[in-house]
Amino acid sequence: MTQEDLLGVAKEFGAPVYVYDAEKIKSQYNRLTTAFNGVSKLKLNYAAKALSNISILRLMNSLGSGLDTVSIQEVQLGLQAGFKPSDIIFTPNGVSLEELETAAALGVKINIDNLSLLEQFGNKHPEIPVCIRINPHVMAGGNANISVGHIDSKFGISIHQIPHILRITTLTKMNINGIHMHTGSDILDIEVFLYASEILFETAKNFKNLDFIDFGSGFKVPYKEGDIETNIEELGEKLSKRFNDFCKQYGKPLTLAFEPGKFLVSEAGSFLAKVNVVKQTTSTVFASIDSGFNHLIRPMLYGSTHGISNISNPNGRERFYSVVGYICETDTFATNRKIAEITEGDILCFKNAGAYCFTMASNYNSRFRPAEVLWYNGEAILIRSAETMEDILRNQVDVKDLFTPKANPVLQSN
Ligand SMILES: *Cc1c(COP(=O)(O)O)cnc(C)c1O
Repeated sequence: MTQEDLLGVAKEFGAPVYVYDAEKIKSQYNRLTTAFNGVSKLKLNYAAKALSNISILRLMNSLGSGLDTVSIQEVQLGLQAGFKPSDIIFTPNGVSLEELETAAALGVKINIDNLSLLEQFGNKHPEIPVCIRINPHVMAGGNANISVGHIDSKFGISIHQIPHILRITTLTKMNINGIHMHTGSDILDIEVFLYASEILFETAKNFKNLDFIDFGSGFKVPYKEGDIETNIEELGEKLSKRFNDFCKQYGKPLTLAFEPGKFLVSEAGSFLAKVNVVKQTTSTVFASIDSGFNHLIRPMLYGSTHGISNISNPNGRERFYSVVGYICETDTFATNRKIAEITEGDILCFKNAGAYCFTMASNYNSRFRPAEVLWYNGEAILIRSAETMEDILRNQVDVKDLFTPKANPVLQSN
């Protein structure tokens, strides 16, 4: 979609607003499936937590994607969006046995990531097939918060505990149908990924009834100029070949599964926000926007860089701006960023706003969460309305009868 299209959306629906380009989601989906067309059975399970609007889930379903979910609510959302239970995999971390059982009762695939629940679940429900999340202890990921493969990680069952897993699965006679890993977001290096995959293959040999091997995700997409992007085509070629060899050895064609979030939706998203104030201090020119980390927290939470352009003045002379939000504490989107000259009222466009942006938005400072718009076949379709005061007050219990306002002191006039 063009800058004019984006400006049109801001005009029609107001700003701040999130916009998602369906075409880009489709092309990323096709890119990934094409890269792996060398394997006979491929399953992509879109990671719902990246962008969980029900209309986005329906789009994914229409592309043939399955769904990766991390909470029972995401499971329910997926069912509501029309996914078959068998097309949903539940890969939570540290949830209760009850939550796992609820998901299993709905008929979705179950992924267990700790020995305690594996044993409890296996004892109670040996007939329900279960996938096991392994931690191969391979470091991948640029940020400590999103790196989940290291030795002290809370994710997955350590490969050093394979004997322990086997003891449990043998004693409970449970049926292990899949082996899974997810080494964290932002895999820079294909070799690292392939190395972790070898550990997964080695683990898989221990289980005779597998249907699939799930390689998780962590594909990197570029956020700023010069960023490295996972070479999906190269990974597809190398991993497919290795996977096919493994299946031959295993004696059965297994399904190769992935759970991409960021890769499918990050670049499809734009966040549009209006500039309220341009303020020159002694050393900095601030552009204050009508939004804040309540809407887009990644720069403050992860230090991530989102490209920012001034779509109201795309050909303007570039100047350096620090783009900040209205939240009453440090709320910085970008420091001394080169952006086409900004006038108050201009619309700034934040790139890579599809993944982990709206889904992490909050009502901090009692602000409304913004609208979401899907750009589909050249048309802007509202897929979530902006919130109103009613949404802010929903579920709040106003104990107005408990407290009466203190009377104002009466000022004596002589
Ligand atoms: C978050 C998550 C993903 C998606 O990761 P991306 O980096 O967005 O592709 C995949 N699998 C699991 C288990 C996750 O928790």
